[in-house]
Amino acid sequence: LENAVIKAERLAILGQLAAGMVHEIRNPLTVIGGFMQLLQKLLDGNPKEKYIHIILAELKHVNNLISEFLQLAKPGCSRRAPCSIEKLIKDVVMLVESEAYLRKLEIDLAVTGGIPPVMGDGEQLKQVFLNFIKNSFDALSPGGKLVLETAWDRREGFVRIVFKDNGAGMDEETLKSIFNPFFTTKENGTGLGMFINKKIIDNHGGRIEIQSEQGKGTTVTVLLPAI
Ligand code: ADP
Repeated sequence: LENAVIKAERLAILGQLAAGMVHEIRNPLTVIGGFMQLLQKLLDGNPKEKYIHIILAELKHVNNLISEFLQLAKPGCSRRAPCSIEKLIKDVVMLVESEAYLRKLEIDLAVTGGIPPVMGDGEQLKQVFLNFIKNSFDALSPGGKLVLETAWDRREGFVRIVFKDNGAGMDEETLKSIFNPFFTTKENGTGLGMFINKKIIDNHGGRIEIQSEQGKGTTVTVLLPAI
């Protein structure tokens, strides 16, 4: 037990160090980005401008990684309160509606009331739902559809939240690696979304089930214990 405590303490310290490091890295990155934009203006029309373009794109990628990493390194002092899943889902859908419209994707909100609340950190849960929705968007082509459903499994005492897309789906290798940190099949992906989602849902005493078929689509089911 003593060993476990020492290990946990060491991990906590490492986590704090990592979060601090990430902040320290972000500041010079912001300066680099600023001067790069300045250079880009100076090189306006010059064929060499494309190099700056590449640098800025890579900077953006590093910044995305850092943002997601910070999310992860945040200490586990999450604020728990009874959360209405219906409300959380509707809040998140509002955030992505314009993007869905621009990308010609349909969101079918089959979220019903009469579902008991779950005990959790609403902000973290919204982050999780947003990550799932964004992944579905990335898998969908114009005209595609994402169905969001909620249900109450009274017998098991679980609230069920289902994200069902008719997008590209995944092969078995992808499905196996989906929760690994930094695993991504996207050119600009960070591979942290699913890893973070699993951590948060685990912390809430829930679980994630994924079914996927290439060319058909993906169904993600989140189960959270009802109050
Ligand atoms: P990222 O989105 O940055 O790639 P994630 O951890 O969120 O990182 O996802 C990891 C990978 O899982 C994605 O790159 C993608 O290949 C796959 N994936 C996740 N959700 C879906 C989905 N709904 N449909 C198809 N593939 C998905």
